[in-house]
Order: sequence, then structure tokens, then C-alpha cells
Amino acid sequence: MSPPIPSRATVPPAAATPVALSYELFPPRNATAAASLWATIRELEGTNPDYVSVTYGASGSNRDTAVELLHRLLTETSLRPLAHLTCVGNTAHDLAGVIAELLDHGVRGILALRGDLPQDPATARPPGSLTYARDLVELIRRVEQRRSAMLCAGKVAIGVAAYPAKHPESPSIEHDVEVLLAKQRAGADFAITQVFFHADQYKGLVARARRAGVSIPIIPGVIPLTSRRRLDRLAALTGVAPDPALLDALGRAGDAVESRRIGVRATVGLARDALDAGAPGIHLYTFNEHAAALAVLEALQLPRPPAVVRRSVRPQLVRA
Ligand code: FAD
Repeated sequence: MSPPIPSRATVPPAAATPVALSYELFPPRNATAAASLWATIRELEGTNPDYVSVTYGASGSNRDTAVELLHRLLTETSLRPLAHLTCVGNTAHDLAGVIAELLDHGVRGILALRGDLPQDPATARPPGSLTYARDLVELIRRVEQRRSAMLCAGKVAIGVAAYPAKHPESPSIEHDVEVLLAKQRAGADFAITQVFFHADQYKGLVARARRAGVSIPIIPGVIPLTSRRRLDRLAALTGVAPDPALLDALGRAGDAVESRRIGVRATVGLARDALDAGAPGIHLYTFNEHAAALAVLEALQLPRPPAVVRRSVRPQLVRA
């Protein structure tokens, strides 16, 4: 007897397809920042994200705090970490060591980046360093291959950066897409975008990327747009100009509560437009604060899979 042919009715409707949710955190710089970060981590853990990413100083300056935070996320929470890693200021040899250390700790996702260039370009590229993020993707795949038995044929998920507005050092947006394609060919599995302020920038990137042959998911990176000061700093760092109307509204806000209300509404609008255009998820840049991220999330009402109760290991109390 031939097996029954599944009826069309068994295929879930596209509208119910869940989307990915992730957050970016950065390693704390001191004990006070660590306490506040851990309060944020516990709040975000309750939303059952797919992963949380942990940034890495371009020169590797915060390597120890980044590795410690990744280790604690793995051992004390139910969260899956995605470790950022950068080429700048590190030799390939050093980076291979960090990748191996991350895998040994149980990290299974790495965001491979070139890194922000330091003020002094001489320190950016020590002899034996990698020039582009694509080189780091290849290096991760080589280290992974050497440890394939340990990974039991599993795979390290490699993410890369993508740019809805032109990368400041790039000659054109077309070049940016060629770079993204090269990172995919080197072994990248997905991309997370730099901040953007107009959904059309995200839609344009996806359209250009698909035309060029990029098939990996491109996840929009969205920042809660609640502080004018932060947006100005971000613009200087990324070269992405914020919406003048939003800056104006934030500048006129009477207090922090009103700023947050204005910013959350703008962020929800941006994320909603990207999702309506087919974005496969949302990556929220939290700046280690949960209030605005949770407000955005609540308003977005993302279609998410039912929460899976995962192990959340909290440090054991040592009894005398
Ligand atoms: P690449 O893809 O290597 O590109 C860098 C520049 O080189 C671009 O201008 C590109 O056009 C050019 N280029 C690339 N390949 C070639 C080639 N073959 N020939 C000619 N030109 C080429 N920075 C940090 O320091 N730490 C972090 O934790 C961090 N996290 C980030 C997370 C996300 C989601 C994003 C979007 C960015 C992050 N950054 C971080 C910033 C990032 O490091 C910078 O944007 C950096 O300037 C570029 O990194 P990249 O990985 O895109 O580099």
C-alpha cells in the first residue's frame, strides 16, 4: 500500500511561520555594569530568544571578559550565545586559539567580523593578521574541521555583518553586496545588519543581495531609538544618518519617559516594516538595557514558537 499523500490542509499557513529573536549584549567593564547586565540577562531570558550575541573589542582588548560572559551564559542560563570575533589587531594564530577556546567552552555560533579600525592604523594589522571578515569565516571553518569529531558532525553557525546603508569604507552598495556574497561563499550561514533608520534601506539590501546570488537569511539589526545622544554617537561610528524627524522629536521630548515612548514607537514601526517585507527575524541591539527592548518586543507581538523549557543553571549556593 502506498503511503497517504499529505493533504494541503496539513501545511501550516505562512502567516504562522515563526520569526527569529535575538539580542546583542556587550561584556561589562566593571562590577556595577556586570550587576546591571545580569539583571538584564535574566529579564531577556524570560522572552526565550533564539540566541544572544556578545560583542568583542576590535583589538581583542576585552577578550577575557567576553569569554567569561560567554562561559557564564552557557553554564548559568538557558540562553544560547553567539560570540562576536574580530580580525583587527589579532593574528590568525591568536584567532585560531580563541576559536578553539570558544568551541571548548561549548559555543556553537560565531559572528565573524573584521572589526572597527583603531585610531592608529599601525595597530590594526599586525604581521600575520587577517584582513577581511571573509578570511575569518574561512579560519573558523578550518578550526571546525580539525574538531569535527568533537562536534559529532555538527556545525558551527557562522554569522557575518551586512549593510543596509553603504559601509563607510566601501566604494558602493553594490560592492557591499559582492563582499556579502564572498562571505557566504567562504561559509557564512546568516547575516545580521548594521543599524538602519528606514525600512527601504533594509528592503533594498535584501533585493540587491538576492539578485547577486546571496541566499542566506539577512536578519535586520534594530536599535531601540530612544536616546538622541546615543543616535548621534551611533551615526558618528557607523556613518548611518538617523531620521532628522526622529532626532527632532527626541530633542523636543520633555523627559526620559516621553523619549522612550517616541523611540519605542519608531523602533516598532521600523521592525514591523522589515518583518512585513519578509525579514526572517529581529536582532535587537540592547546596549545592555532591557526596558526599551522589552517594550519593543511587547508591541511587536512576534510569531514565536512555543517556549521550550530549557535548563537554566543558576550558581549553587555553597552551604557550610
Ligand atoms: P568586512 O566584511 O571585512 O568589510 C570591511 C571593509 O572591507 C568593507 O568596506 C568592505 O567593503 C571591504 N572589503 C571586504 N572584502 C574586500 C575585498 N575582498 N576587497 C576589497 N574590499 C573588501 N565591531 C567590533 O569591533 N566588535 C563587534 O563585536 C562588532 N559587532 C558587530 C555586529 C554587527 C551585527 C555589525 C553589523 C557590525 C559589528 N561590528 C563590530 C562593526 C564591524 O566590525 C565594522 O562595521 C567593520 O568596519 C566591518 O566589519 P565587517 O565584518 O563587515 O568587515
